[in-house]
Amino acid sequence: MTSVPPIGPVDATRVPRFAGPATFARLPRTDEVTHTDVAVVGVPFDSGVSYRPGARFGPAHIRAASKLLRSYHPRLDVEPFAVQQVADAGDIAVNPFDIAEAITTIERASDELRDGGTKLITLGGDHTIALPLLRSLHRDHGPIAVLHFDAHLDTWDTYFGAPFTHGTPFRRASEEGLIDQEHCLHVGIRGPLYAPTDLTDDRVLGFQVIGTDDFQLDGLAAVIERMRARLGDAPVYVSVDIDVLDPAHAPGTGTPEAGGMTSRELLHCLRNLVGVNLVGADIVEVAPAYDHAEITGIAAAHVAFELISVLAKS
Ligand code: MN
Ligand code: MN
Repeated sequence: MTSVPPIGPVDATRVPRFAGPATFARLPRTDEVTHTDVAVVGVPFDSGVSYRPGARFGPAHIRAASKLLRSYHPRLDVEPFAVQQVADAGDIAVNPFDIAEAITTIERASDELRDGGTKLITLGGDHTIALPLLRSLHRDHGPIAVLHFDAHLDTWDTYFGAPFTHGTPFRRASEEGLIDQEHCLHVGIRGPLYAPTDLTDDRVLGFQVIGTDDFQLDGLAAVIERMRARLGDAPVYVSVDIDVLDPAHAPGTGTPEAGGMTSRELLHCLRNLVGVNLVGADIVEVAPAYDHAEITGIAAAHVAFELISVLAKS
């Protein structure tokens, strides 16, 4: 934490919310502050998608939808932009034609941005980007407990022979020893799979699963208890694929599946991470071309606000 008082968002009583800077929550840019505790950074990359493209436009869309965020979190009783310096680091410029090069660029940029202890909230982009972000974090923290909100497992092996895609980051991360196999968890899994072995393979790679049926059958409180017990004291990376939400709550995404979480359930899970050792997070797969009325963008902006608020309480 800095000794200089944090610079917060532009004052909405002086500059209307539909005006002002295009940064996340109208916060300052990282080059406008002397120290950054939490940086929001975009990765406009979607060359790893298997179905609908368009998540490369996610960062700008989430920033636009974040203009209405206010400064006080009543449930957590915290002003997340007042007790820590949160700033917008802009976008990482990645090669859209070369996935391997893009992955290297993201890993290096994460190393640079985190230098000095800054924590990253990364706005995707497709889910491929989680792999280089985990590689970067692993260097500082060792094996990471991944708390993965998604309709999909994302532990498949290859697509068309390609090992680095938005459906494979957590298998690669497990193979590379980046994750703590005793403390990883998928939340919100649902929908048809390729085969029963998808689930058995996933278990071997180090993940447990909370499916959407568990919300229905056991209730939110039980799900949160299971989630916290699984994470324990490990360093935790939260990866939120926005398709974890039902298409009613997040239509603007690349591989939608019916029967998903509500935005209320997701936000509630996230704010219950206070006290967890959160070392970083991403929000991925927002594809604005399929969004209506900013529904998906607003959900993603609120996910970021919850995560920043959790960091403020830690
Ligand atoms: Mn997904
Ligand atoms: Mn995913």
